[in-house]
Amino acid sequence: MLSPRQVVDYALQRRALLADVRAGRVGQEEVCDAGAYLLRAARFHGTTTANPCPVCRRDGLAQVSWVFGEGLRHASGSARSAADLEQLAAQVPEFTVHVVEVCTECRWNHLVRSYVLGTGRPRRGRRSAGG
Ligand SMILES: [Zn+2]
Repeated sequence: MLSPRQVVDYALQRRALLADVRAGRVGQEEVCDAGAYLLRAARFHGTTTANPCPVCRRDGLAQVSWVFGEGLRHASGSARSAADLEQLAAQVPEFTVHVVEVCTECRWNHLVRSYVLGTGRPRRGRRSAGG
């Protein structure tokens, strides 16, 4: 069972940005700019939500979890599935998860939530000095 810490919700920023898009103050091409890497991550590691895309209204808005942290080593900065997150949370002392919603149709993407996972205690065993 995951127990996220330091949860930050970006719903207000998201709503403000979407209001700007609808009012024409921000161009759609500025917010619908998901790159190939993010789109692929959404397809392979994303979880499909019940929500339609806030921009193009199509179903199938995906949420992708990106992990960051020193303790993750090479895995830092990669997209991870829910199962991966549970595994990492049981092994790594501390890492940050950024949940990004992505529409694979119009390429809308926005940070939804960030939080910290991990065992909360130092990794057992001796620290190796590099590799
Ligand atoms: Zn869309």
